[in-house]
Amino acid sequence: MKRIRKDDQVLVISGKDKGRTGRVIRVIPDRDRALVEGRNFATKHVRAQQGPSGVTEGGIIQTEAPIHLSNLMPVCPSCDQGVRVNYVFTEEGNRRSKVRECKKCGAHF
Ligand SMILES: [Zn+2]
Repeated sequence: MKRIRKDDQVLVISGKDKGRTGRVIRVIPDRDRALVEGRNFATKHVRAQQGPSGVTEGGIIQTEAPIHLSNLMPVCPSCDQGVRVNYVFTEEGNRRSKVRECKKCGAHF
């Protein structure tokens, strides 16, 4: 199981957005990175190109750059801050699932 998943609230613990939180919009498992909404903006130069959906305009855009997972911490919904987590199994009926447990308050999320 991944430490960080899509739609998670995460805390950025390194870089220029250190101390800020945001929502994960995409995880890139191959590169151990994630895109966090509104965080780690980078300027990207795009060339105008002809694609299947028509012409894409070129120029300079601001876009989220992927952040390495080691620079992110899951945010516990009840502590409302970045926390360290354990992995625990929970049983719901006959379904066994692995969840994250906040090391601080013990909440599962
Ligand atoms: Zn907690």
